[in-house]
Amino acid sequence: AVQSLSASTETALELTDVRKDFGSFSALGNINLQVRQGEMLVFLGPSGCGKTTLLRIIAGLESQTAGNISQNGRDISWLPPEQRDYGIVFQSYALFPNLTVAENVGYGLVNRRTQRAQIRARVEELLTMVGLPTSAKKYPSQLSGGQQQRIALARAMATSPKLLLLDEPLSALDALERVRLRKEIRSLQQQLGVTTIMVTHDQEEALNMADRIVVMNQGAIEQIGTPQEIYEHPASAFVAGFVGKVNVIKAKALGEHAFECGDRGLRMIRTPGDESSDVGDYRPGSEVRLYVRPEDRIAEDITDATPNQVVGVAGRVEFLGGICLVEFDVAELGKTPLTIQFSLNQMHDLNIVPGVRIRFALRADRIRVFPA
Ligand code: ATP
Repeated sequence: AVQSLSASTETALELTDVRKDFGSFSALGNINLQVRQGEMLVFLGPSGCGKTTLLRIIAGLESQTAGNISQNGRDISWLPPEQRDYGIVFQSYALFPNLTVAENVGYGLVNRRTQRAQIRARVEELLTMVGLPTSAKKYPSQLSGGQQQRIALARAMATSPKLLLLDEPLSALDALERVRLRKEIRSLQQQLGVTTIMVTHDQEEALNMADRIVVMNQGAIEQIGTPQEIYEHPASAFVAGFVGKVNVIKAKALGEHAFECGDRGLRMIRTPGDESSDVGDYRPGSEVRLYVRPEDRIAEDITDATPNQVVGVAGRVEFLGGICLVEFDVAELGKTPLTIQFSLNQMHDLNIVPGVRIRFALRADRIRVFPA
């Protein structure tokens, strides 16, 4: 597993039974969460799940209806934002347009009545840190979106806060700049060892940047885990469907490990031993859904003994460069095609083009099962 060296198991921030109601609408249920010292924690979830509200509560920009927040052992539950120790970066760059870059970055320091020479040195250091050492005298309007976001980051870090909060900081940027800044933010965060919470609805961004991901849905935490845990061992159908691509196959249980798919009784099995996340009822006849990732197929060396064999007719091909996603029509599975991933080389070697019939097998050790 890929893991950050900077994150420790010490708790930097702890949320206990945090709730938020807007009138009669419950935006956040009971949120319990421990953020580790130095980690990059990402709140991931669909629009409206409450991730921004949770970040704003941590920042003190929104007050919780109930519950407690403590930072490094200090109860900050009801402190105003200015008495909490964090830096924040918003989606819209939110720089002061009438101040220069240097004035923007030094803003928090001026407020703290730091000496001018010290401010100048610190601003210079921060601008170097974000890769814009010669931009001090420029105005925000003279900078690209990505550059403005780097300045916003420098401003957020100026007072060396113990906590960095990032609210969709990359979502207004173009694709190339987004990927570049992802790496920069991540390496800066690790270098400084600053505990960071980032909000995003972009699963790729979350998988890419997080030490741990908090997957949220409808005001509740669905799962907390490393990107790999979340991807490989989703704790719910929601997580399996929201993070990564997945095929959902209608099935009836024959038991815990055997299933009958579609209308024509296509039999699938899963390897025993990975039912840890199961919550379902697998009594014979109960409706379930099998979750299969596009990469979880065997296409070579299939023998009669290989389980979970499927014959599909290749349809639409989604070309992604080195890999391709191919939609297969499988007679037994009805109208919903099965999306299967091949490397470009496999596409050539196996001669996969639309209309071709291919036999492959779904990996029994990778099938996840959730209730219908
Ligand atoms: P998005 O990515 O769209 O911002 P989100 O996960 O960050 O989504 P929140 O902005 O936290 O979601 O909103 C959570 C829920 O609370 C939404 O249903 C939203 O409509 C509601 N909500 C947020 N702020 C308020 C408010 N001030 N008054 C009433 N309802 C609100």
